[in-house]
Amino acid sequence: MPWPTFNDWGWQVKNRLDDFEILARTYQLDDDEQRGFAATRSLFRFGITPYYALLGDREDPDCPIRRQVVPRPEEAEIRLGERSDPLGEEEREVVPNLIHRYPDRALLLATDRCPVYCRFCTRRRIVGRVERQATRELLSEAFEYVRATPELREVIISGGDAMMLGDNQLDYILRELRSIPHLEIVRVATRMPVTCPMRITDQLAAILKRYSPIYVMTHFNHPAECTELAAEACARLVDAGVVVYNQSVLLRGINDAVAVIADLNRRLVSMRVTPYYLHQCDLAEGIEHFRTPLQVGLDIIDGLRGHASGLMVPQLCVDVPGGLGKVTVVPDWVVRREGRATTFRTYTGATAEYLDPVDSHKGRS
Ligand code: SF4
Repeated sequence: MPWPTFNDWGWQVKNRLDDFEILARTYQLDDDEQRGFAATRSLFRFGITPYYALLGDREDPDCPIRRQVVPRPEEAEIRLGERSDPLGEEEREVVPNLIHRYPDRALLLATDRCPVYCRFCTRRRIVGRVERQATRELLSEAFEYVRATPELREVIISGGDAMMLGDNQLDYILRELRSIPHLEIVRVATRMPVTCPMRITDQLAAILKRYSPIYVMTHFNHPAECTELAAEACARLVDAGVVVYNQSVLLRGINDAVAVIADLNRRLVSMRVTPYYLHQCDLAEGIEHFRTPLQVGLDIIDGLRGHASGLMVPQLCVDVPGGLGKVTVVPDWVVRREGRATTFRTYTGATAEYLDPVDSHKGRS
């Protein structure tokens, strides 16, 4: 058996940077980062895979990789309007670990573990608290619920990071879900292609292929995350028939500019990953310093449309507080609507009129 190395995902997880000493040896920490580490130690778990840590700049605290994983003191501040459970998941937990929010979809929180603990995590109330995965007994209650609820067509396996589950456990969950006749879509939510791409082994790809169609929802936020290893991991998934979508979170000072999102999405498309959502940060506790005004996201979409291929333009999405669902938002491209005519502003700034069919307006005032 080969000795575990840097390219082994188990080694990466086992050797996560998880204390101050090792963090301070890896990066030249500024005062804010040092205070941030102390202020958040008891609030949210800290951990970075060696792979992801090496993507960061040793000297620059504003490096977009470092900003995502090194705590700042602001994280300890709770602002007006922030919630520990911004998406109201607890009240929609129908059996342990299963959230039923939309009529036809359910979310299975199969583990609370992640390879890297992102400082902007929306689910920080549960993620990394005890580092455990749902037992088969608890999972069987979730499967029973799904089996007994025919309106459910889709289950999203999440956590934590769903790919922190070992191959056997993932295989078991997929097998159980695929045995439910009315379940059409299974998604797996993971940041592993970004934070620990060595997790995407041939063996894992073969498991996912067995339960096709599988959708993997991953989470790249910055072009610096699109490394050769990340591209290979995504290629392994796509070659196994997995459809890979990306959901970025809009983060102040990290990716809140048209040029950054354009570069990121261009790279993702060339890695055969489809940019799906650009998420507005949720109102989770302690992450106000990451949040951007809604207009920033609208300006980014406006800046992409027409200037970049439509394949690279994600939907700007707000998951509204209280678990009431996602809303997608678009810039104001309609200038006015009068009778049959709608006047649009195009990406060049020119305006143009589109006419509805005459029939459709007969009898209307
Ligand atoms: S990988 Fe996802 S669940 Fe885990 S800490 Fe990051 S954002 Fe949260």
